[in-house]
Amino acid sequence: MAAQANRVVPMSEWEDRWQEGRITFHRPDVHNLLQKNLNKAICGRKEVRFFFPLCGKAVDMKWLADMGHTIVGVELSEKGIKQFFEEQNLAFNEEPVPDIPGAKVFKSTDGKISLYQCDLYKFSSAVAGKFGGIWDRGALVAINPCDRQKYATLLMSLMNNDCKYLLDAVEYDPEVHKGPPFCVTEEDVKNAYGGGCDIELLECEDFHHENFKKWGLDSMTEKLYCLTLKA
Ligand code: SAH
Repeated sequence: MAAQANRVVPMSEWEDRWQEGRITFHRPDVHNLLQKNLNKAICGRKEVRFFFPLCGKAVDMKWLADMGHTIVGVELSEKGIKQFFEEQNLAFNEEPVPDIPGAKVFKSTDGKISLYQCDLYKFSSAVAGKFGGIWDRGALVAINPCDRQKYATLLMSLMNNDCKYLLDAVEYDPEVHKGPPFCVTEEDVKNAYGGGCDIELLECEDFHHENFKKWGLDSMTEKLYCLTLKA
């Protein structure tokens, strides 16, 4: 972590990635750990409101919406949001967001999926309420390490009392690759969320990707946590 503590990725870099199609973080399939741990997230509830921070065009949003859940995502890139609706064959409307100057919300016409195009740090429960579920993949690990506490505090403020927050983090030698994704250890998760949440480790597995080789890594360790608000 110390090796990456001061690294800052400007917001313009993310937009450039979308414009140039450098989005190797995107996965064409529903995330295996979300599928495997869906029951942990749903807990028998119906029509759960899910929050997707830094959502990109994650196909998991459509997958959950098709099960009857409602999705709210936040993403900086309008290009990414439009690609989501187009690739998922969903008709959508575009509206301004009264609470956030300059922001737009893109809503599927069936009302199940709403994606806010803005800086995450401008978003709050005043805009879209609180949530019963959160899927955080490529989000905590994508934000700048110096913003981690601010991010965790915001995410916790979006949790309903019954919220299940599934957090997917990666660990590797931070001296070898500079990130993103940044290395987020169990200790980092405890430091960021331990004050407000109980933290359960659900999964721990090594995974391989062709990209890791060019970063000098053989594999990363992926850990999935379930966070719930302390009673
Ligand atoms: N969760 C998605 C995307 C991961 S990449 C997935 O798993 O595929 C991180 C995404 O966050 C990028 O699409 C980037 O454009 C977006 N992003 C980065 N900083 C942001 C910010 N401050 N506010 C909103 N979106 C941001």
